[in-house]
Amino acid sequence: MTSVLQSRWTLAVWVIMVILWLIAAYFIAGVVAQQRQSQLIHREQQEANKSAEIIHTIIHRSLVHIQNLPTLIASEPSLVSLLSQFGSNITASPLPYEERHRQWRADPALSHLVQRLNEIVAVDDIGINACWLMNAAGDTVAVGVLPKDTNFTGANYVDRDYFQAAQRGQKGYQFAVGRVTGVPGLFFVSPVMAQGHFLGAVGVRTNLDNLSHLLGPNMFITDEYDVIILAHDPDLKMRSLPDARVAQLSTEAREQRYKRREFTTVMMAPAHLKESTNLIHWRENSYPSVLATQGHPEDILRVYVYRDLREIENIQRDRNWLFALLSLVGLLSVSLIAGTLIYIRVLIQHSQKLTGLNDELARQARTDALTGCANRRSLLTLMDAERQRASRYSLPFSVLGMDLDHFKQINDRYGHAGGDQALRHFVALLKEMLRPTDVLGRMGGEEFTLLLPQTRGCDAALIAERLRAKLEASPVSLGTAVISFTVSVGVAQWEAPETAEQLLGRADQAMYAAKQAGRNQVQVAVLV
Ligand code: GH3
Ligand code: MG
Ligand code: MG
Repeated sequence: MTSVLQSRWTLAVWVIMVILWLIAAYFIAGVVAQQRQSQLIHREQQEANKSAEIIHTIIHRSLVHIQNLPTLIASEPSLVSLLSQFGSNITASPLPYEERHRQWRADPALSHLVQRLNEIVAVDDIGINACWLMNAAGDTVAVGVLPKDTNFTGANYVDRDYFQAAQRGQKGYQFAVGRVTGVPGLFFVSPVMAQGHFLGAVGVRTNLDNLSHLLGPNMFITDEYDVIILAHDPDLKMRSLPDARVAQLSTEAREQRYKRREFTTVMMAPAHLKESTNLIHWRENSYPSVLATQGHPEDILRVYVYRDLREIENIQRDRNWLFALLSLVGLLSVSLIAGTLIYIRVLIQHSQKLTGLNDELARQARTDALTGCANRRSLLTLMDAERQRASRYSLPFSVLGMDLDHFKQINDRYGHAGGDQALRHFVALLKEMLRPTDVLGRMGGEEFTLLLPQTRGCDAALIAERLRAKLEASPVSLGTAVISFTVSVGVAQWEAPETAEQLLGRADQAMYAAKQAGRNQVQVAVLV
């Protein structure tokens, strides 16, 4: 029962240790993964920020340079005088586009200017694809383009933001898809003024293709309405960001600016990892990406750079492996420790058992099996020790030699078992009356010796008489019969330097004398 309880207890401790270890392993693996993930996110975020900053700076510089061109062109005196001929308070030409186109392209007064504009556009490294002049009503009266590009003379741009800015005397700048050409580009416009009157505007266009070589993978650029106007991935072009401002534009405004009404939103849900607020789930990716963006508030262009955190999946996989490894190591260690403890406990239990068995064997070697009192050998050893003690300290001690009377008859009448019962009765009776230091030993058969340390012969004789009388008065039940039996006792006090055998011999002689004197009596041995 105890060992079952102990093994259950051991199992419970083992299970608790394993569980605690597994929790610790899970925690450690989690912390390691978390650290790696934080470092990865931090590193990638910095890379993305840097890329966004560099690209934005490069684009910004090249655009600042282009932005100044219309102002330069607008300052040409011939251009001012030409626009003055159209006037400042005019309405757009009522003629159809083709008619206007044909008329103004054929106008000899404009041909010189057109030639100048063509020359400007043709200059390499300026980075513009078109350069044109609008009158105060927004009609394009002169266009400079490369020979391969579409000429849009006659087109009216009064509805464009850039023209409306010019009407207010400001520079205009916007993204749009060319109304006639269908080419997406950035438009920069400067007003042409004379004596405070708005005469028209000069515009230049740079096609977005001019900038596309600057964009690396995972980069895109949006305009001020959050529409992706340039991207390394062609699939992203003209998509809108989530919650894009383009949705606030009217359908007509969208049509005018982008030549389209609907925009597909690019999936860019925020990824809720606690490390960073700039994490997103880019499109269909199962892993998050860091996002960096760069753009001045006054600038219509905004650069976005995203970097995939595919490594996060590896980190999570490594975390599982680390957890498994730590669990295995822990399981083995805990089992090893538990096994060792169990082994040590079993060893201790065995050794305790062995000690118990040895003690029992030693006790049995000293004890008479039938009555439980000392056996002959044990009594002789103790008597020898008592003899030495008595000799050293000059103390007296005595022995009683006892032989049960007519014991053969008890055996004959009540059988051997009855005789055994009578022997046990005798020993039990004596033990009740003796001091703890007295030693009763069975010398063989129905003969007993009582060792009485520090007892004189006269006192021993009194004890012997008390024992004899008590036995006589204490019948024993043997089966159905109740009988009394008696004992003959010989008393002898040790006399230095006699041996234990000599002392016992004198006690026996006194006992025989008691037998001869009629049994059931005490005789004191004579001194040597
Ligand atoms: P007395 O001493 O009075 O002269 O007569 P007695 O009958 O006791 O003497 P005897 O020595 O002839 O007999 C001793 C008997 O004790 C013989 C034996 O059967 C019996 N006996 C000895 N050892 C045992 C024992 O262990 N158990 C039983 N039941 N009887 C025993
Ligand atoms: Mg006898
Ligand atoms: Mg006898």
